[in-house]
Amino acid sequence: MPPKPQLILNPGREKSLQRRHPWIFAGAVSSISGEPQPGDTVELISARGEFLAQAAYSPQSQIRARVWTWDRDESVDSSFLRTRLERSIQSRSLLQSYGDAVRLVHAESDGLPGIVVDSYRDVIVLQCLTWGAERWRDVLVEAITDLCKPATLYERSDVDVRALEGLPERAGLLAGSPLSGRVQVREHGLKFLVDLLAGHKTGFYLDQRTNRLLAQQLSANREVLDCFSYTGAFAAHALQGGASKVTLVEDSRDALGIAGENLALNGLPESKAEFIGGNAFQVLRNFRDEARQFDMVILDPPKFAPTRATAERAARGYKDINLLALKLLRPGGILLTFSCSGGVDAALFQKIVAGAALDAGVHARILQRLSQGADHPVALNFPEGEYLKGLVLEVA
Ligand code: SAH
Repeated sequence: MPPKPQLILNPGREKSLQRRHPWIFAGAVSSISGEPQPGDTVELISARGEFLAQAAYSPQSQIRARVWTWDRDESVDSSFLRTRLERSIQSRSLLQSYGDAVRLVHAESDGLPGIVVDSYRDVIVLQCLTWGAERWRDVLVEAITDLCKPATLYERSDVDVRALEGLPERAGLLAGSPLSGRVQVREHGLKFLVDLLAGHKTGFYLDQRTNRLLAQQLSANREVLDCFSYTGAFAAHALQGGASKVTLVEDSRDALGIAGENLALNGLPESKAEFIGGNAFQVLRNFRDEARQFDMVILDPPKFAPTRATAERAARGYKDINLLALKLLRPGGILLTFSCSGGVDAALFQKIVAGAALDAGVHARILQRLSQGADHPVALNFPEGEYLKGLVLEVA
């Protein structure tokens, strides 16, 4: 066998790998031996010549390589990927009670960098985010088809992070029968329509599942504002939990349309729901000006800061909406506030929210800290895998 291409690191840059962090940044690479093509497996070698890991090469991304294995003798091939997939899928069997929409593969945290696999009943959606994933796409399709036997395997690699890799966006049928558009899934006994063709992410915000159950438990007799509602999953849970009224705010008309259908599908009273299409920043200001009040506010905005570099601008956005939300709460009211920004960690998020409370002149306490569901695990050697942060606050 010809020698594998190698990335030789700068002195000292082996440290994060020795702690088993699976990324190597462009600035850590001193030289390249051989001519690796995008997605090829390369060996990572320290400045002193020691083998560190085998990784997928991404020539354009700032994350220049992502580790497949720490073992020099393991071959990264179709059976390697199949074994990793199988292990990841099997680990989800503990989560059957979750319903029939589950993340089967959560990328780095499942030892499969750049690869996301979500299951919606008999449909599986694959997302390839990096060159390493792209290189093995056909193998992944074959292995998933074989292991899960889905009626449909669909690709939703139409995500902007692929641009960082120099990869075009792509979506379409990979195997099985064509998708008619929507599937119906269950979550905590409720039914939801998921638009797999055009919905956000792979169609549904699976990561919020356990937090939606909590919202249900907290919402009895409360007037609830579900801000950034998407297809109304929090709102439906709140009504199911006995909310006296829910107000949904969302700027995607399509999502809001499905939200209405989702409430109807569950026989939840439409008379208790108010749908507001528009920019949440403006709607929150209007509510403040109208002195509207709620007993519970859910803030689940999109990613304001994908990277650390954009954290400052994002912080202003988070502070703005949290300040407004806190002002809308009646005494004893509850705020469920989230950030899914990779660039804002839990400590910073808490600081931003504390600043918002101070400026709002509100005394609030943290009742609980929230994160993503168990099908979005966080490998201890990859803290970046924990991207969703949430706080349950009670206003005095
Ligand atoms: N809570 C939802 C997920 C919310 S994701 C759930 O559990 O399913 C964030 C949502 O915010 C997306 O649906 C997006 O369309 C919407 N959004 C983004 N920017 C917005 C804005 N400025 N005003 C209102 N909605 C916005």
